[in-house]
Amino acid sequence: MSTAQTSTAQTSTAQTSTAQKSTVAGSATDPVGSEALRARYRSERDKRLREDGNDQYIEPTGRFAHFLGDPYVERFERAPLFDEVTVAVIGGGFAGLVTGARLKQAGVDDIRIIEGGGDVGGVWYWNRYPGAMCDTAAMVYLPLLEETGHMPTQKYVFAPEIFGHARRIATRFGLYDNALFSTGVTSLEWEEVSSRWIIRTDRGDEIRARFVTMGTGPLHRPKLPGIPGIESFGGHCFHTSRWDYAYTGGDASGAPLEHLADKRVGIIGTGATAVQCIPHLARDAQDLYVFQRTPSAIDVRDNHPIDPAESAALEPGWQQEWYTNFATLQTGGFADEDLVKDGWTDLAKRIRDRVMAKLGEPGAQLTPETIQSAFLDSDDEKMNEIRARVDAIVEDPATAEALKPWYRQLCKRPCFHDEYLQAYNAPAAHLVDTDGRGVERIDETGVWANGVHYELDCLIFASGFEVGTDYARRSGFETTGRDGVTLSERWAGGMRSLHGIHVHGFPNAFIVGFAQGGNLVSNITHNLVEAGTTIAAIVAHTIEVGADQVETTEDAEQAWVEMLDNTGGGILGSVFGNLLVECTPGYYNNEGKPLERGERFIAAGGYPGGPVAYFDYIDGWRRSGDFKGLELRTNSSDIMSVTDR
Ligand code: NDP
Repeated sequence: MSTAQTSTAQTSTAQTSTAQKSTVAGSATDPVGSEALRARYRSERDKRLREDGNDQYIEPTGRFAHFLGDPYVERFERAPLFDEVTVAVIGGGFAGLVTGARLKQAGVDDIRIIEGGGDVGGVWYWNRYPGAMCDTAAMVYLPLLEETGHMPTQKYVFAPEIFGHARRIATRFGLYDNALFSTGVTSLEWEEVSSRWIIRTDRGDEIRARFVTMGTGPLHRPKLPGIPGIESFGGHCFHTSRWDYAYTGGDASGAPLEHLADKRVGIIGTGATAVQCIPHLARDAQDLYVFQRTPSAIDVRDNHPIDPAESAALEPGWQQEWYTNFATLQTGGFADEDLVKDGWTDLAKRIRDRVMAKLGEPGAQLTPETIQSAFLDSDDEKMNEIRARVDAIVEDPATAEALKPWYRQLCKRPCFHDEYLQAYNAPAAHLVDTDGRGVERIDETGVWANGVHYELDCLIFASGFEVGTDYARRSGFETTGRDGVTLSERWAGGMRSLHGIHVHGFPNAFIVGFAQGGNLVSNITHNLVEAGTTIAAIVAHTIEVGADQVETTEDAEQAWVEMLDNTGGGILGSVFGNLLVECTPGYYNNEGKPLERGERFIAAGGYPGGPVAYFDYIDGWRRSGDFKGLELRTNSSDIMSVTDR
């Protein structure tokens, strides 16, 4: 309804506010010139830069240890397993599911998914908060739609439908058979003499596997803000990835959170997750206090049902066509038609068209400067629209001002929502804008921000997931390859791989992700399908020729990494990489710390020609049957085949 600082009646134990809400130097309705805009962006970023970077966050331990647990299934006991499988698939999210499906299609049947959750689904198993949905269009986000015969109900689908689709893939491809759920991997260890991986789990299992695939995801482990006093809060609290419906009432389909009707609820965080659940909390809580450090950029979603006539007209092979179309347009390419037509392609098309217009000017050349200036112009236009939308929707002017994002759209995860801004018009909703400083401290009865105490019954952490920490911490286990070298040691200076899939010293192990491959962050599952298809082709080939080990050569890995380092994702990658350093802090830019090669998440490491070029390249690579850059060996170390890149 209003910013809480300006409405002391709403702050039950509010004391004198020593801090004022941010003053606003310009707004969408009062456009500022691009230099003034950039100065505003810089000053907003500078307010948020912190020496401690990623270290400002803490792991859920002690009284918060249960945030890593599974509230959705009863713990059951079982005897440990000591057996062997052909392929162990670590992680039952879309990475594991598409890899498992492709392996089955390639004739590899002896597969076992090992998953910490009680079912498949990965992030869609864990994240069941009210309003959870995917803001990448379902026609391209949901993998294997043609293979499973499913058509999404809406352009953007809610979490229960996505979770259902994960289960559909598992059922369709027999991936439930032999799967181990509620089982956390504790270590992976390579045994050279037998060419087997030994997988140990928190159930005491010791499973041997000829091959392992690792799809543990970048948004896997919840993190908490290291706010002084966080441990002392005496009310109820939970992380959004473990929503406590027993406390709130309601369910994942969005039913009223009826137990909150007499509760004062606080939420820390205003990222993509908070944006989706805040409308539900504003609707159902007695009072909702949203503690904001940086507002998200909220673009239009415009969801609607999928037209059955349109889907009936799709020809076989349509999803691959949609993938390519989306990736092409989203990365500045040309296509006759925009099949997805959403906020991602809209921004990219604006940039592309501006680049083309600039190239039409006398003497213009395609340089990083041309692209950068087109990008900045398009982004200014888009962000002005986004800020104007806040004014158009949010009734209280001070609240509207505080909800305006002052950074470029791709500095943080862009959000798309048609109820979030409206939620602040609800009488129960109070925005506590901290002008970039964040929450000061937490005590037994509530939260301090801007020198004001907010008494709360319940505190919800929408504080995100570990991204910048090392692989072992994020995945929850260490992987030890040949000669006892761990993956953390191997990657101490940053990720090294061939195609983002193979790591020298880790034979028969495959990473299913996007980094150092397609790097298409707007549609992660496209990367996963490509990686899964590639891995299945390699495993089937290795089995077919009777090799015991398959591994990238050190030279091939080095050449791949050098190519990525030297070209920095090509002209587009270098423009975005340079600009990202100037962004307001977040996980996209390593919390505003300089992007050393060991700390890159998105800024660099992409294929020079971009995602579409990478997908073309990897398709040709696996179809050629040469498997360039891989060495196939027998146990006796006889090299059966090796092809240089
Ligand atoms: P994020 O990491 O994006 O957001 C964390 C939030 O916590 C930020 O708003 C951050 O502020 C805030 N915060 C941290 N510390 C403090 C503090 N001390 N005081 C106040 N606020 C604080 O996590 P999310 O869970 O929102 O999203 C994670 C990712 O999950 C997304 O980026 C997206 O990739 C994915 N996702 C995807 C969805 C989809 O539709 N496909 C939906 C939901 C999530 P600040 O910004 O200042 O750092």
